[in-house]
Amino acid sequence: MYRSMMLINGEQVEGASGRSEIIHNPANQEPVAEVVIGDVSDAVRALEAARHAFPEWSSSSPKIRCNLLHDAAEIVRQRADHIAELLTMEMGKPIRDSRREVLSAADSLDYFAEEGLRNTGDWIATGDTRSIVTKQPIGVVSLITPWNYPVELLAWKAGPALAAGCTAVAKPSSLAPVAATEFIMAINDAGLPPGVLNIVHGSGDTVGAELVTNPISRKISFTGETSTGRWIMEAAARHLKRVSLELGGHAPMIVFDDADIDAAAGACVRRAFGNMGQVCISVNRVYVDDAIADDFTEKVIRRTLDLRIGNPLDPEVDLGPMVSGAQRRKTVEHIEDALRKGARLLCGGREPEGDLFAKGYYFMPTVLSDVDHTMRMMREETFGPVAPIMRFSGEEEAVRLANDTEYGLAAYIYTDSMRRAIRISERIEAGSIGVNVGSVIDHHAPFGGWKQSGIGRELSHRGLEEYMEIKHIRLGL
Ligand code: NAD
Repeated sequence: MYRSMMLINGEQVEGASGRSEIIHNPANQEPVAEVVIGDVSDAVRALEAARHAFPEWSSSSPKIRCNLLHDAAEIVRQRADHIAELLTMEMGKPIRDSRREVLSAADSLDYFAEEGLRNTGDWIATGDTRSIVTKQPIGVVSLITPWNYPVELLAWKAGPALAAGCTAVAKPSSLAPVAATEFIMAINDAGLPPGVLNIVHGSGDTVGAELVTNPISRKISFTGETSTGRWIMEAAARHLKRVSLELGGHAPMIVFDDADIDAAAGACVRRAFGNMGQVCISVNRVYVDDAIADDFTEKVIRRTLDLRIGNPLDPEVDLGPMVSGAQRRKTVEHIEDALRKGARLLCGGREPEGDLFAKGYYFMPTVLSDVDHTMRMMREETFGPVAPIMRFSGEEEAVRLANDTEYGLAAYIYTDSMRRAIRISERIEAGSIGVNVGSVIDHHAPFGGWKQSGIGRELSHRGLEEYMEIKHIRLGL
């Protein structure tokens, strides 16, 4: 069986406790890999290795770091099939999507390789003094990531951290640590000095908590649940550490009466059901203008019924299993709650039948209508394949419903009117707005949440600046 080690100070190592865990395939419960598990002492060892590596790495030329990151991206591409297969087997994402994720992670490394070269400052002349403003790497950073995009989300952190001159300790989710570890090993194989990039495995409340509270790390970059992010922010406050928190979401999609209904229905199905809805920017709530609601809903149902559910290693499959039984149970609970309160089930709502599905955490993509904001799925992150459709009439109501949430990560608007698109975009409380487009991710543009969806930004030059401190040097002439 495949064995996934930790990487500390350039060496693949076992944990101090000698413990390991088996990761099982959520599609059929077969063992995928044995993962060595670390404890607090391993986290400390990794942090110390990163601290030791920091002076040399932070003072190396940005061009050297740029070249290493490009080499790393190339190695990731060469190993993309292998990493993607592990990713699919450990968390159930269809192989096409896993491959796309790994290649996109390589693109992120390329992007930050170049962005690191553009770390310019200011020179300010003020009478008989001059002020130089520079940006310097923060120091050792802890990178803590979830299971739903274990490779790509790590790339969004490791890329800018390394480009900025920081050294890092990564901790992937215990549910899906294998592909993330392969990704870190691939970067390391580009020739990073020992200790620059480390990865440890283990539970959040031991290994993760140590990475947060140990004073060696100067910054925590975290992606995961809002409740975990809140704890991390409180713990980090004791040392006034920098934090970037990419947390939960509850994205609305508003479809106006002048929208291209086919395009909107297609985006709705892709965004609500892709990765089985286990995406922070999934469409969680669909608001559709009364005048087109029947037409739109019918198109959504037709497209949903066309989705192919099956073994995620099959390249023709659109949807695999969910990551775990717990995640599927939560989805069922949200559906039952909505049905009890008067929602209408239009398709899905159950596990698919047949031998292929018997042992996996499969669930059929589910469309509901007649929903309202008393239902849990309209307020809490379901993180499952559910598209609840609610009617509205008029812009005011659409905006009020869209903003009636504690989250503010992403929102989607479909309309043919440019004026309306701008008017509504400016009123929605979220970090990213997709207008007539079903994805808000672009390496060149910042990504992050408002309200309970987080603090800080990833991607773009702003994502790089999150790993830097600003320094003012004042010169008397
Ligand atoms: P999670 O919060 O349970 O775990 C995320 C990571 O934090 C894991 O590595 C976990 O081991 C670690 N962790 C847990 N407790 C910790 C602690 N006390 N100290 C330090 N680390 C700790 O989240 P999850 O279930 O893995 O991921 C799903 C969540 O992530 C959803 O809420 C989703 O919306 C969110 N998410 C957000 C984004 C975004 O960019 N905003 C992207 C993907 C996922």
